[in-house]
Amino acid sequence: MGLTFEAGAPSASGGRVGVLHLPHGAVETPVFMPVGTAATVKAVPQDTLEHIGRAGAQIILANTYHLYLRPGHELIRRMGGLHRFMGWDRPMLTDSGGFQVFSLAKLRNVTPDGVEFRSHLDGSKHFFSPEHSIAVQIALGADILMTFDECVETPATWERTRDSMGLTHAWAARSKAYWLAHRHEVPWEQGSEKQGSGIGEQGSEDPHTPIAMALSDPCSLIPAPCLFGIVQGGMYPDLRRESAERLVEMDFDGYAIGGLAVGEPREVTREMIGLTLELLPKDKPRYVMGVGYPDEIEEYARIGVDMMDCVLPTRAARHGLLFRAAEPGEDGPAVRMNIKRLEYAEDQRPIDPSCGCMVCQRYTRAYLRHLFVAREPLAATLNSIHNLEYYLATLDRVRGSLAECS
Ligand SMILES: [Zn+2]
Repeated sequence: MGLTFEAGAPSASGGRVGVLHLPHGAVETPVFMPVGTAATVKAVPQDTLEHIGRAGAQIILANTYHLYLRPGHELIRRMGGLHRFMGWDRPMLTDSGGFQVFSLAKLRNVTPDGVEFRSHLDGSKHFFSPEHSIAVQIALGADILMTFDECVETPATWERTRDSMGLTHAWAARSKAYWLAHRHEVPWEQGSEKQGSGIGEQGSEDPHTPIAMALSDPCSLIPAPCLFGIVQGGMYPDLRRESAERLVEMDFDGYAIGGLAVGEPREVTREMIGLTLELLPKDKPRYVMGVGYPDEIEEYARIGVDMMDCVLPTRAARHGLLFRAAEPGEDGPAVRMNIKRLEYAEDQRPIDPSCGCMVCQRYTRAYLRHLFVAREPLAATLNSIHNLEYYLATLDRVRGSLAECS
């Protein structure tokens, strides 16, 4: 048992609230997943992540490609898996590494078997196949694993996109076959000495941990990570349709919509998401990868996307770009603020007077500007906390209004 999903009735626009039950706990959807590229959401400590938004970050994402290269998935397996390694007890998702192989790595050679590439760190040669990607993800030990897919360059012709999609489907089937055979090889039990993790505590007193509950249920299997398939098809509606149908036939625990937010106009992203959502099972979680700005997050959640992730809140924060609610007279709903601007040098207000985050409770724009201009490391931390609060609070609000509709 890797996942159960309880989805509420959809609103008029298709949005729904739900609860995703994963081996490391429950996640209320729609949810935004902060990106923890190298086993860290950059500049934000794990205990702080647990106190952002109403319930903290419920689930975070880690990047397989980066962790495979450094420190190495076998090292992380020996350390008891990613949860124990980074001190994070809540659910986690790993991507397949495909996106980074195709966007960061050098000298790629794609064959039907997999992709040979050189590390962007030291030029060393590596090979990723669907089987190897899943093996690495199992060693890392996330709750949700992703199938290995080819990410086509953009713009790409219909023919090129169709061929790439065919490869992605073949790789999805191979990813699933490997996952079925090896999914119980996660390193979770090795974390059993860690207090309160809820993992590997088969003999523990606490009957409420997800794993203890699973083991006490004679009908359930030993907990294992679940696997999501990824719909591709570029910006071509007929290919998106075909990809969704093929993936649904293969039967995954959840479905991601990949290959979007790669520079296409917003209307195209919206169209591709809308038509793909129609074709995906209503009782499975639907995840749009790599989006987006706060207003996009809200829009997609309201039409029925259950999960999203993006580096934007933390990456923008490190560049001094902050998101806040519009004030009367400003174009809204989200305003982008560049904290390094001189106009904030003596501004005594918090970033966002309506924000409940620990940064806005304590620090002024003037201080945050000073930290950023002086290149103090604390600037990245405080800016990231505020931006993540903005994203998570946005979805807290969306969940509240969708719950009223259902
Ligand atoms: Zn704030």
